[in-house]
Amino acid sequence: MTSDTDELWLRQEVIDTALAMSGEGLSPGTSGNVSARLGGGMLITPTGMTYNDLIPEDIVFIDDKGVPAEDSRKPSSEWRFHLSAYAARSSAKAIVHTHSRFATALACTHKPIPAFHYMVAVAGGNDIPLADYATFGTSDLADSVASALKNRKACLMANHGQIACADSLEAALDLAHEVENLAAQYVAALQIGKPYILDKEEMERVLSRFESYGQQEQP
Ligand code: 13P
Ligand code: ZN
Repeated sequence: MTSDTDELWLRQEVIDTALAMSGEGLSPGTSGNVSARLGGGMLITPTGMTYNDLIPEDIVFIDDKGVPAEDSRKPSSEWRFHLSAYAARSSAKAIVHTHSRFATALACTHKPIPAFHYMVAVAGGNDIPLADYATFGTSDLADSVASALKNRKACLMANHGQIACADSLEAALDLAHEVENLAAQYVAALQIGKPYILDKEEMERVLSRFESYGQQEQP
């Protein structure tokens, strides 16, 4: 059960994340959107509103059937792929979608990000895949995103941008930054030569080291 206060905090956190995404240069104008899982549904940014103007009441609750709460703002045009991403990734609690420059450049040339750098493991596998193109806001796009995110925490979206899913809004924003950083490094590497791609065995070693990387919780 979430209390009204918890929900209010989460609404504010969705706004803060959208402001950070935009302010940190990850998505121009009103592009991109942010959501957080709530109960069986989600809270999501409203469509086409300047992030600076948002107040908690502007954030839209959508239930698991895709029905928005009565008297709410019109939700993000991409609510369908946010719902399908939560369905595909049961552990995801937050989603950040951006039109960040380098991820979008790769997505527009239909290039997924291979294991040119071991850090692609942050997305949970040996590449950052590319979701097939479909028109923004459609259920076809929701299907292609769900299939790209089935085994990954992040993906590029053909001719569109990128999506990052995590267990908190802060972690989803961090992951979107890391995807953009990797995209910029991959674009730079492509410009000076043919990137060397780490093989499957090496990426398996990296993925297993990732499980114990960083400060571990004390027992
Ligand atoms: P919304 O303003 O409807 O969230 O759309 C932004 C976007 O990135 C569409 O893909
Ligand atoms: Zn978009």
